[in-house]
Amino acid sequence: AQPLIKVQNLKKYFPVRGGPLGRVQAQVQAVDGVSFDVAKGETLGIVGESGCGKSTTAKLLIGLTERDQGDIIFDGLALGEKLSLKDLRRGVQMVFQDSYATLNPRMTIEASVAFGARVQGLDKPEDRARKLMDRVGLDPARFAHRYPHELSGGQRQRVNIARALAMSPRLVVLDEAVSALDKSVEAQVLNLLNDLRAEFGLTYIFISHDLNVVRYISDRILVMYLGEVVEVAPVASIWAEQAHPYTRSLFSAMPSMDPDNRTKEPPLSGDPPNPINPPSGCRFHTRCRFKADVCKTKTPKLAGLSVNAKHMVACHLHDADSGHPKAGQGVPS
Ligand code: SF4
Ligand code: MG
Repeated sequence: AQPLIKVQNLKKYFPVRGGPLGRVQAQVQAVDGVSFDVAKGETLGIVGESGCGKSTTAKLLIGLTERDQGDIIFDGLALGEKLSLKDLRRGVQMVFQDSYATLNPRMTIEASVAFGARVQGLDKPEDRARKLMDRVGLDPARFAHRYPHELSGGQRQRVNIARALAMSPRLVVLDEAVSALDKSVEAQVLNLLNDLRAEFGLTYIFISHDLNVVRYISDRILVMYLGEVVEVAPVASIWAEQAHPYTRSLFSAMPSMDPDNRTKEPPLSGDPPNPINPPSGCRFHTRCRFKADVCKTKTPKLAGLSVNAKHMVACHLHDADSGHPKAGQGVPS
């Protein structure tokens, strides 16, 4: 089946200006050659430390940030060719973490939700807004005429979800959408998102630093490190075995990971290197305890594991031809 969205070799560098003339002095390699696809109805979870390029990737997908390079193909149409930015933005909606900042404080909840329906040119936008409010668990009789500051964080996030749905999107990108919520509210909103996905035939890209949340909602998980994809696999497969040493460290640092399942990987030390001048070869080599000489010079390519082609990893340990002395033995423990 054709994926709903496919990105190929996506790149975004941000110039760093400085000096008295504000000249470009360096480039932050925020997203550097990212490729993936998401099937219709699927949820792809994206994880990684802050600064790994998760949010920039999300913004590139909806045209909030302009890409330097790469292809974005939505439902078979390439952005900039048969697909305009306007069409892409109609098909993809985003829900952010800060539910307060994204709502107009002077607009009632009903007006905020109806806005999307009106932009779409739909009939009776207020009726549609009330139906959607009801669907996300906000009784229109109680909430329609309230303002954002009168709502709790969880209620505001429900408004943001209703507002996104009012645009009739096919893909919803959720960037840390439940991260600011209390655990009990978080669970309710996650369940709501799951139900809405089935009901409206939606596809999700779910970005979070919380692996347990990503596991709960995703079909596949993609791991980013310093602007690159290092591993992507079905949830069960990556939960059973993390093929990339970085992924192993991320998982072993998880507080609630079942101790029997936990890898014995020591937690990561230090911050990620500066993305202005990322390490050569494998970008993780400065923090990897399995690094060999080849890791400093040769960039590992994302490829399927021999035991499971759907489980993809970019690490010389898994490539028999890489020249890594331990290649082909999996990840040594
Ligand atoms: Fe570690 Fe080398 Fe694999 Fe990079 S390619 S993760 S440095 S073993
Ligand atoms: Mg972020």
